[in-house]
Amino acid sequence: MRVVVASGKGGTGKTTLATALAQVAAETQAVRVLDCDVEAPNAALFLHPQWSSGAEVTRPVPRVDAERCTACGRCAEVCRFNALAVVGGAVLVFDDLCHGCGRCTWICPEQAIHEEPLTVGRIEAGWTPEGIDLAQGLLRIGQPMGLPVLRALKHWPPTTESASVSVSARPSPWIEIRDAPPGASCPVVETLRGADAVILVTEPTAFGLHDLRQVVGIVQELGLPAWVVINRDGIGQAPIDAYCAEQGLPIALRLPLERRLAEALARGQSLLAAAPEYRPAIRHLLERLRCEVSGA
Ligand code: SF4
Ligand code: SF4
Repeated sequence: MRVVVASGKGGTGKTTLATALAQVAAETQAVRVLDCDVEAPNAALFLHPQWSSGAEVTRPVPRVDAERCTACGRCAEVCRFNALAVVGGAVLVFDDLCHGCGRCTWICPEQAIHEEPLTVGRIEAGWTPEGIDLAQGLLRIGQPMGLPVLRALKHWPPTTESASVSVSARPSPWIEIRDAPPGASCPVVETLRGADAVILVTEPTAFGLHDLRQVVGIVQELGLPAWVVINRDGIGQAPIDAYCAEQGLPIALRLPLERRLAEALARGQSLLAAAPEYRPAIRHLLERLRCEVSGA
């Protein structure tokens, strides 16, 4: 089962919930966590993994052989992203705009273009003390597009062995929990693709409701079943309940506004370490997801 924990708004407690779900699930099944917030991954702050593997992520960018190029301009004409320009008899390539589609290489009549890999980020993977297989994507500073890193992360092979437990020896069924980036743009859509269920974390503020609406639109467009978790319940008066009722979204869990939780999370403690009394509610949420996704 693949579950995405998303929230239109940043800072609503998405990672807090994703890591708590992973810790509870790991008590009975194999768990993989993908931290898909490649611009600022932070699940590791709560799960404390030992990184054991990783790889660079690259994307292809065109390079022009000036000896062969006749400055005909065909490559710039076919580029839909304005990543090429012919200026003064030479082709300029704007790597940040290039999407690596390969059209320019294919169209060049002089075969003057070849592709070279450009490093755009990195994948890191390892194991947490509870035996959770955690992988995160890290977008290289200055790179404008996180999608290549995110796609590589989704296809990252599971680490085969932890220090003491092999994946094949773990209880099944397995669960993959994806901690989505904030917002409602392409990286969120990519994180949602291929998921079985979505948990939407929000807070009862005007911003929380506004951003929840945006991400609900995407989830509905993709036809994914979703449940809502209200974090910091009591922080505001926004009509989250009424909106969820109107959209047919079940509210699966409420986490109250508590100063002690905020302080513990700021110290890097996980939700369950700070408030173990929430374990049964998190377990119940997981079971509910499993039953409704599997139809059991
Ligand atoms: S299509 Fe080829 S020959 Fe024409 S400008 Fe581009 S690189 Fe040069
Ligand atoms: S690979 Fe595609 S996006 Fe990149 S410069 Fe060539 S045509 Fe444009």
